[in-house]
Amino acid sequence: MENESVTKIKKPKWLRVKLPTGENYKKVRGLVDEHKLHTICESGSCPNMGECWGEGTATFMILGNICTRSCGFCAVQTGKPEEVDVYEPGRVANSVKINGS
Ligand code: SF4
Repeated sequence: MENESVTKIKKPKWLRVKLPTGENYKKVRGLVDEHKLHTICESGSCPNMGECWGEGTATFMILGNICTRSCGFCAVQTGKPEEVDVYEPGRVANSVKINGS
């Protein structure tokens, strides 16, 4: 058969995603949960969360986590945005301040 002659190529290391672990990850996870924040990291199902959050970096989504667009490559929920949470900016600012950034 034709497939038998195909050589298997080993996948590159960078293709494997690290599981989210470590103190920085837990700290970011805690801040996001405690302050009820939205991140594109989670809403967009970004595969880099383990690496970025593990280094203490997250990217906030503001004005909710619903997008009016429906891009085929993006995992953010599509729909009509909810009412603006006027306390969100304060929570975002506090979490950044607590994280020391
Ligand atoms: S900060 Fe990192 S995990 Fe968050 S969206 Fe950007 S690349 Fe993805």
